[in-house]
Amino acid sequence: MVRAWIGLGANLGDAASTVSAAIEALDGLAGTELTRASLLYASPAWGNQDQPPFVNAVACVQTELPPLALLDALLALEAGFGRVRDPAVHWGPRLLDLDLLLYGDQVIDLPRLQVPHPYLHQRAFVLVPLAEVAPDLVIPGHGRVRDAVMQVTASGIVPIRR
Ligand code: ADP
Ligand code: MG
Repeated sequence: MVRAWIGLGANLGDAASTVSAAIEALDGLAGTELTRASLLYASPAWGNQDQPPFVNAVACVQTELPPLALLDALLALEAGFGRVRDPAVHWGPRLLDLDLLLYGDQVIDLPRLQVPHPYLHQRAFVLVPLAEVAPDLVIPGHGRVRDAVMQVTASGIVPIRR
């Protein structure tokens, strides 16, 4: 069994419900058990300011799946979750983003999969939830989460009260 960390994000529809349901769905993946999840956080949308704020969280799993199989399971979950039926027939846009942040202490550099996730160490919306649940976690090549989170601007990333 390997301990892996998953980053979740959504910003369309009922994003908080989508992220909550996706966290629970991680527990249903083959050979995989959910062990820990952060609170849900609201993060201001960046880039195009017209879009709604993001809801972000991180979750920890114990898994028997090898890295690429876990990635495929996450992408399948995105596909299953991340679309809503539009009353006007067509399928809506993707609602959910699932990223494999860390897989044990492994460094993986494949065309389809880079671990640690390439932007993990510089994204406040990942580091803030990660610092809540695992401040001493080491990001291979980038040091501890508690130190990495100090290097980013975390303003505006706030826990959601539900
Ligand atoms: P992003 O998450 O960068 O906004 P996408 O979710 O559309 O964009 O990108 C998905 C693709 O990124 C996947 O098809 C996958 O092959 C690739 N990828 C590479 N490394 C990772 C990782 N650590 N976690 C998730 N996807 C990854
Ligand atoms: Mg992604």
